[in-house]
Amino acid sequence: MGILVTGGAGYIGSHTIVELLNSGYEVIVVDNFSNSSPESLRRVSEITGQRIMVYNMSILERDGLEKVFNENNIHAVIHFAGLKAVGESVAIPLQYYQNNITGTLNLLETMQKYNVKRLVFSSSATVYGFPESVPISEDFPLSVTNPYGRTKLMIEEILGDLFIADNEWSISILRYFNPIGAHSSGRIGEDPKGIPNNLVPFITRVAVGELKELTIFGGDYPTKDGTGVRDYIHVVDLALGHLKALEKTVSTPGVNTYNLGTGKGYSVLEMVEAFENTCGIKIPYTIAQRRPGDVAVCYADPIKAKQELGWGADKGIEEMCRDSWEWQAKNPNGYEVNIKNIESPHLSTSGDFLIKVNSI
Ligand code: NAD
Ligand code: UDP
Repeated sequence: MGILVTGGAGYIGSHTIVELLNSGYEVIVVDNFSNSSPESLRRVSEITGQRIMVYNMSILERDGLEKVFNENNIHAVIHFAGLKAVGESVAIPLQYYQNNITGTLNLLETMQKYNVKRLVFSSSATVYGFPESVPISEDFPLSVTNPYGRTKLMIEEILGDLFIADNEWSISILRYFNPIGAHSSGRIGEDPKGIPNNLVPFITRVAVGELKELTIFGGDYPTKDGTGVRDYIHVVDLALGHLKALEKTVSTPGVNTYNLGTGKGYSVLEMVEAFENTCGIKIPYTIAQRRPGDVAVCYADPIKAKQELGWGADKGIEEMCRDSWEWQAKNPNGYEVNIKNIESPHLSTSGDFLIKVNSI
């Protein structure tokens, strides 16, 4: 079965493709590498020993999308492609709306034209805004505080409207909590450009000696130790959730929304301690002002995904810390390998492994 994965070279996409290929799916990727490297896909191919068809293009390119659907037998789409930095979205909102909303509309219109009506969409726990209580279940009120979150909420609403108009569509909306960790091989992982915004990549950069110390944003939250609490989930567990959601879209029409989280909350200080204990490296930190827009506590009620998808997160916090560290330690500069001739129409890479990159 052919699965189109938009944004497949990115952090969550690359881990999901490993699981798709291991489960026998054929994978076609569309990515413009605006926040990733083709090297991630080369390594996915190496890990799995499978081929990946890659289109180096933006989902903003309508003609390119048509070509992808013409050239491949696509049964369903997993849609990761999007810009995702909250702060940046406040600074350049129009680019966020253009990329995330227009890009998604292009994708949906092309899917409709080619009669491909199965979709798994990456949403975020950010759509819960400032939740009144925890754990957070899918029926909590939705609100957003920044353009990035608004693109996620708008797309969720667009998908709802699409199903009302045509109930042949089968859509899973996945609201991720805080993905961390990396593939156990240490070959693929999260590779943020510049200074990381997120906690765990920041911690691993401190551990590797690239950054001096962690700044903890806020020590006066109404939590067990005053620092913010989040639901950290191993990216491989998250990836496996996509396969379950995909199976659901194949078996049942409708729009279904699921939290993908563990249901457990860890404070920033607990994360620092877990990392130190698991990896044996001290993380110096200072406690500073709260970061504007941060919620005190956010963790999922994951029961709906358990009941309806048969999915639950298995990996604990030690494994998450260990795999994050393993990736960082083995790849201190992330992917930083430039595959030459990325503009050439066909690009084959080392040995028996092949990613075929088509530039549109
Ligand atoms: P990522 O930036 O690593 O991956 C996104 C990929 O999409 C990148 O490879 C990027 O090059 C590509 N892309 C962006 N715009 C594109 C376009 N117009 N055309 C083609 N490709 C494009 O991000 P990620 O962490 O893997 O996140 C994947 C999805 O999950 C995103 O939609 C993100 O908003 C959502 N999400 C992520 C998190 C998180 O904490 N990582 C949490 C909640 C939701
Ligand atoms: N955090 C922090 N220092 C950092 C980055 C994050 O103290 O350098 C805190 C942040 O305030 C939050 C938690 O760590 O309480 C998780 O932040 P992250 O940005 O990873 O996820 P999000 O806030 O988007 O859930």
